[in-house]
Amino acid sequence: MAAILTQAPASPPARSFPGISRFCSVGRTLEILSDAWSFMVLREAFFGARRYEQFQAVLGLPRTTLAKRLNHLTELGLLQRIAYSSGALRFEYRMSQAGLDLFPTMMVLLAFGDAWLGGSDKGRPPLQLIHKECGHACSPVVACSACNGSVDLHDVQYRSGPGAGSSAEVAERKRSRRASDPGVLERGRPCSVARTLQIIGDRWSFLVLREMYFGVRRFDEFQTNLGIASNILTDRLQRLAGHGIVERHAYQVRPERFEYRFTPKGMDLYGSMIVMMRWGDKWLSAGRPPLLLRHRPCQHDFHAQVVCSHCRQPLDAHNVTYFTRYALPGAAATHAVERPVSDFGAEEN
Ligand SMILES: [Zn+2]
Ligand SMILES: [Zn+2]
Repeated sequence: MAAILTQAPASPPARSFPGISRFCSVGRTLEILSDAWSFMVLREAFFGARRYEQFQAVLGLPRTTLAKRLNHLTELGLLQRIAYSSGALRFEYRMSQAGLDLFPTMMVLLAFGDAWLGGSDKGRPPLQLIHKECGHACSPVVACSACNGSVDLHDVQYRSGPGAGSSAEVAERKRSRRASDPGVLERGRPCSVARTLQIIGDRWSFLVLREMYFGVRRFDEFQTNLGIASNILTDRLQRLAGHGIVERHAYQVRPERFEYRFTPKGMDLYGSMIVMMRWGDKWLSAGRPPLLLRHRPCQHDFHAQVVCSHCRQPLDAHNVTYFTRYALPGAAATHAVERPVSDFGAEEN
């Protein structure tokens, strides 16, 4: 992961706002994930794709786009390039530990998407997870690393960690290179993770959500904390309301003033945020997390972990398998790469 650490930060932010470094590990993690092509390459790597042709077959990306993303993810330290043929130089790409550690993030984004954004699939999530260790179908649950109890928005206290304020530049550095067509994220596979990223992967939307998790509710507070232009803020709040993440409540009549509160759906998204934060803290913060979390029910500092809803043991890339309408259990990768992209949609009929 040295590559990441030496890359950041490129330049100091032009402006500095008090709230900007909050949760910055999440911002950095999102920046990686919400590049549509990088996300899809990682997703296929989790499904077992290793060789260029396998990625190519399921994603159908232009050669140079795919090669660039594989290189980029290798530079970031998420994939490792390993020669598999000594004669002609042939490489395959395997998940590094940092890449494998993104698995809980993928799981929890998936669970959110399945719970709240499915809909189009007759009520069935596209993927059913099986925890191999207990053998049960399960859903991922965000839990406290100290007591293993579930964690929600109101259970957590915050204080600045050793890396506070040191790294806001990364989130500020550039706009997300997210592909403009949101549907592109679901290319090849219907995917609840992609649907979730479409909501939170936009930088300003993410920053607005982050402020709300810290208790910010009013328009002028968002503006002060984020230095966001009012038309952009209006747009993002409307968009989040449109997605059912926030609701507008009048708190004053004359003149009419509103504040924004989370819906249950918005509160549920919180788990994804702190799971991403854990990954960013571990791999992008050089051991200096910007923010420390304390779990009120057990009164211990903690990080978020993702556990099996059935047996409450941690879920990781090695102990979870998938059952899906689109790829059979145990054969996900092979099944997927043997089929042209268009077949995935055709199976719906
Ligand atoms: Zn706890
Ligand atoms: Zn289990």
